[in-house]
Amino acid sequence: MTIETASIVCEQFLSLPVKRVDFNWHGGEPLLSDPAVLRNAIQTQQRLLTEGSAPAINKIQTNGTHFSDEWLTLLCEYPIDIGISLDGPARFHNRHRSVTDERPTSCHDEVMANMAKLRKIGLPFGTLLVITEDMAFAAKEIFDFVNDEQLSVDLLPCFFHGTLGNVVPPSIHPHSLSRFMQEYFDEWIRHPDPPTCRILEDMLGGVLGIKPRTCAFRNHCHEFYSVDTDGRLYPCDLFLGQQDMCLGNLHSESLHSILSSPHTAAIRSSIATLPDDCNECDWLFACGGGCSAHRIGQTLDSVGRYYFCGARKSIFKHIEAFMLSNASLFSTAKAAMRGML
Ligand code: SF4
Ligand code: SF4
Repeated sequence: MTIETASIVCEQFLSLPVKRVDFNWHGGEPLLSDPAVLRNAIQTQQRLLTEGSAPAINKIQTNGTHFSDEWLTLLCEYPIDIGISLDGPARFHNRHRSVTDERPTSCHDEVMANMAKLRKIGLPFGTLLVITEDMAFAAKEIFDFVNDEQLSVDLLPCFFHGTLGNVVPPSIHPHSLSRFMQEYFDEWIRHPDPPTCRILEDMLGGVLGIKPRTCAFRNHCHEFYSVDTDGRLYPCDLFLGQQDMCLGNLHSESLHSILSSPHTAAIRSSIATLPDDCNECDWLFACGGGCSAHRIGQTLDSVGRYYFCGARKSIFKHIEAFMLSNASLFSTAKAAMRGML
C-alpha cells in the first residue's frame, strides 16, 4: 500500500461517527513494506485526533520473519499491537509457511528467534494459530507447545474455497475441528493457569451466558471492512479479491458514499442474514451463526450454510457437559476468561 492510499484510508475511516477505529495492517506480509507507510498513517491519525476525530488503534498481523531494525524502531515508538502467525510446533508451521523455495523449512526457527527478540526488548505480542486438517489428532501437542512457550493464542480454523466453491486442503474438516477443539478445551480448562485463548474464552463465555467478543460469534460483520492495496473496499479481509464482494474504491469515491450505496446494503444484508437453521438453534446466543465467509453456497441471493455448524454444536455441547459435571472448576473457568466477567 502506498503512503497516499494509507493516508486516504485513515482520513476516510476517521471521518465516520464512531467511538474508535481499529486499523489492522496485514498482508500478504505488512513488514515487507516500508515502515514509512505506517509511520505516516499514524501521524495522519494523530493529526486527525487533534481535529476531533475518533481515536485510532493500530495492529499488525505478521508472519514474524521480517523484524528489521527500522520496523523495531517504529514498533517501540508507537503503541502498535503485534500479532504473529505461528501454527504451533515446527512440524506443522513449516509445512504450510515456507518463507521461500530456497528456505522451505527454516521459517519456524526464525519466528521463534524473533519472538525471543521482541520479549527481550519488551514488546508484547499475541499469536494466531491456524488449525489445519493435519492437526486433527494433535491438540495436546499443540496445547503443550502454546503452554510451554507462554503464548497468548487465537485459534482459527483453516478454510479455503476451490474454484468450484468446494472446500479444499489444507482446510480442516468439521469433524476434525470438533475433535481438535474438544481435546484442546479439555487440556486448557484443567490447567491451573490456562494460556489466553480467545476462541475458547468466547465459547465458554457463550455457554455461560456471556456475550462473545469475536465477530465470528456475534454476527457483527458490519463493523469490519478491508481495503486492498489499490484502495478497493471489501466487507472483511476474508472477502478480499472476490470481485462480486467489492464495495467500491476509496481512490474514486468517498467512504460515506460507498457505505450508503444500495450495492453495499445488498452485500451487508446477504452477510448479516443468518441461515434458517440458526434462528431455531439453541446455541444461537453463543454461536452467532458463525463466520459469514465460511458459508457454503452463499451468493447475493442465497444465505448458504455455515461449514462448521456441526462442529460448533458438538463443541458447545462438550463444554456444557464438562461444566455441568465439574462445578468445582467453575471458578477456574472464570479465571480463564479473565476480563470477560
Ligand atoms: S450452531 Fe449452527 S445452527 Fe446453531 S447458530 Fe451456530 S451455525 Fe447456526
Ligand atoms: S466475515 Fe467472518 S471474520 Fe469477517 S467480520 Fe464476518 S464473522 Fe468476522
